[in-house]
Amino acid sequence: MEEIKKIALEFIESQKGEAKQISREIWNFAEIALEEFKSSELLVEILQQYGFDVQYGIGDLPTAFIATWGDSGPTIGILGEYDALPHCGNQHDKNGHGCGHNLFGTACVYAAISISKALERTKTPGKVVCFGCPAEETLEGKVYMARDGAFEGLDAVLTWHPHWANYARGGSSNAMDSMVFEFHGKSSHAARDPWNGRSALDGIEIMNYGVNMMREHIIEEARIHYVIRDGGVQPNVVPSYSRVWYYVRAPKRSIVDELSRRVRQCAQAGAIASETEFKETLLTGVYETLPNLALANCIQRNLELVGGHKYNNEEKDFAKELGFEDPLFEEILPLNLEHTRPSNERGNVSWLAPLGSFYTACHAPGTPGHHWLATQQYGMEIGEKGMETAAKTIATSALELICNPDVLSEVQKEFKEKTKEFVYDPLVPKGQKPNPLGIR
Ligand SMILES: [Zn+2]
Ligand SMILES: [Zn+2]
Repeated sequence: MEEIKKIALEFIESQKGEAKQISREIWNFAEIALEEFKSSELLVEILQQYGFDVQYGIGDLPTAFIATWGDSGPTIGILGEYDALPHCGNQHDKNGHGCGHNLFGTACVYAAISISKALERTKTPGKVVCFGCPAEETLEGKVYMARDGAFEGLDAVLTWHPHWANYARGGSSNAMDSMVFEFHGKSSHAARDPWNGRSALDGIEIMNYGVNMMREHIIEEARIHYVIRDGGVQPNVVPSYSRVWYYVRAPKRSIVDELSRRVRQCAQAGAIASETEFKETLLTGVYETLPNLALANCIQRNLELVGGHKYNNEEKDFAKELGFEDPLFEEILPLNLEHTRPSNERGNVSWLAPLGSFYTACHAPGTPGHHWLATQQYGMEIGEKGMETAAKTIATSALELICNPDVLSEVQKEFKEKTKEFVYDPLVPKGQKPNPLGIR
C-alpha cells in the first residue's frame, strides 16, 4: 500500500475512540431533519479543530456546512449526513437514528481529516471538502444546497451509507417529485344547506381516483404514493380546506416530469368536478443517480484494500438476541450495478460532479430499515466497526483520485460524456425555503 494511504489509515485507527464518542453523541441527540443543530455543531467544531475552513449555514439551511482543507490540486468532496428519524427511538413517539446517519456523518468527518493529514505530511497538493448535508430523510438537504450552488468546482465526490454488507455501488436510484396539493372549497352545514358548500375533500378524492385509474397506464417501475394530510374537521361541516401529499417516482427524471404532469391533470379534474380550487407546491425534486463506473471501480478497489471488519462473539450474540439468525457480514461483495427503487438526493449531486458511493456492514442481515432494531445497532460497536471501514475506504479512494491523475481523468471523462447535453434544473424554485408548508 502506498505510504500516503497508510498515513490516513493510521490516523483513523488512532482516532477510533474519539470518533466512536462523537457518533454516540449524535446518536443520543437524535435530531430529525432541519433540526440537526447540536449534531452539525459538534461535527463543525471537530473540523475547525483540525484546521478546516468552515462555512456554517448554506443558503436557507442553518444546519448545513461546507468544510474545506487545502488550496490547490484535485478537489474531492465528501457528503455526510446526520439527521435522525421520528418513531425510531426506543419508544414509538421517540426520535432515533434508524438509518445510522450518526455513523454516516462521523465517518465522513474523520475521513476528511485523515486525508488532510496524509496530504500535509507528504506535501501533496490536494483539496478536500466535507459537506454537512442535513435533512436527507425528507430528501431536501442536497436539493436546496445544489440549487444554491454548494457543489460547484468538485473533481469527484464520495459518499457511503450503513448497510448489512460491504460493496461499492455502480447502479442508479429513482428520481422523484414530492408535491402537496392544497384544495380550497366553501364550507356549509352538511345537513341544512349542503348545496351552498363545495367540498375540498371531494376535490382530493376525485383527484386520487384519477391517479388510481392512471396506475394501469404507467410503466411498472414507477411508484406513486400519497397521504391525505387534511381531510376536513368533522362530518357536519363541508370541508373548505384539504391537502394531499404525493411522491411520484420513476427510474428517470424525464419520466417523473411526465407522470407529475399527469398527476397535476388529475388535480385539475378534481377541482373542476368539485368546483374547488387547488394550489400545488413542489417540496423537493430528486434526480436519478448518474452512475460513474470508473469511480465505482476505484471505490471497490479501495474497499477491498481496507478489507471487511470482523465481529466478536459478544456482537454476534447481541445480533442473535435481537432475533437475526443470519451472521453479521464480514466479507466484501463484488461491485453492485442494480437500480434501487427508493430515491436519494445524492442523485442531484451526481449530475454536478462524478459521484461514487458504497455500503459497509453496520447491522445484521434482515434488520428492518428505519426501525428501533436498526437504531440499537448503530449506537454500538456493530455499527461503529462499519463506520471505521467507511472512513478508511473514503480516505484511500480520495487519496487514489488525488495522487493518480489517470484514475481521476478516467472518472471525469466518463462524467463529461454522460452529461454532454445536460443542463442542471434545480427543480425547487429559487427563494423557496425547505419545508415551506411546515408539513412533516
Ligand atoms: Zn433513511
Ligand atoms: Zn439513510
